[in-house]
Amino acid sequence: MPEVLTAPLVVEFPFTRSLGPVQSAFLTGLRERVVLGVRTGDHRVLVPPVEYDPVTAEELHDLVEVAPTGTVTTWAWNPAPRRDQPLTTPFAWVLVRLDGADTALLHALDAPGPDIVRTGMRVRIRWADERSGAITDIACFEPYDGDPAGRGARSGGHTGRFADPVTGIVAPARLDYTYSPGRAQTAYLDALSGHRVVGERCPSCRKVYVPPRGACPTCGVATYEQVDVGPRGTVTTFCIVNIAARNLDIEVPYVYAHIALDGADLALHGRIGGIPYDQVRMGLRVEPVWTQGSRHPDHYRPTGEPDADYDTYRELL
Ligand SMILES: [Zn+2]
Repeated sequence: MPEVLTAPLVVEFPFTRSLGPVQSAFLTGLRERVVLGVRTGDHRVLVPPVEYDPVTAEELHDLVEVAPTGTVTTWAWNPAPRRDQPLTTPFAWVLVRLDGADTALLHALDAPGPDIVRTGMRVRIRWADERSGAITDIACFEPYDGDPAGRGARSGGHTGRFADPVTGIVAPARLDYTYSPGRAQTAYLDALSGHRVVGERCPSCRKVYVPPRGACPTCGVATYEQVDVGPRGTVTTFCIVNIAARNLDIEVPYVYAHIALDGADLALHGRIGGIPYDQVRMGLRVEPVWTQGSRHPDHYRPTGEPDADYDTYRELL
């Protein structure tokens, strides 16, 4: 059996969100080295604060300041920090109940090793030198053996009003992993590099799946029989794309379509070119256009054949 392909894959996007009054006050407070919680109807103080009581669903807005010192309630050692984690040296992930709070906040504890970390240990906030109104304004926690510091929640409410409040954040999301397409799609990708499209036929229902998944999704049995399909096919459904993708050099609007290759019982997708976007239609006959060095067809273009009869592809919609 040929070697199964693997490749590094990174999925990354910035997630922009607005904060609302409670989270805004919390993050703006961090910028000013103040930790705010919110008090519930039964006088518990939640840190980090939330807008609604998780038990009663009551709306919450009674902000209170808690101390920058607290107690570790549970922890896990992280021996190999990854990119963008709070510290670059090994550290402990900790839940810390700040003095004056009834719930715990997740953050990092800077400690020389796991031997000194324990549930119940006392810690305090180490503030970042430059703060912008983000959870990273707390650089981390550090061991602390003094009394509760600062003002506790019992000292009264806080207006939560600061000059120039933070109203939104951008949270970058990133998944960084090694992808393996498995046996069936490895064969499919190998064939594509020779400009052939190969599906697999189910031994039970005889349907041909492209791209193959290695098993029939209907019958649940493994598929091994390889079948050449296409190269021509029929547009079954399509959409008009009006939003330009940052990393694609394609003029909008363009059409992205489901295409049933001849001989296949599953439609794959591809971009339609060589025809104005508003003339693409169901039943349009298309063929792949390959560019130099590309594994995948760059796009599909009309063949000039008459449109396919609806009955020939209705089962593939
Ligand atoms: Zn089947």
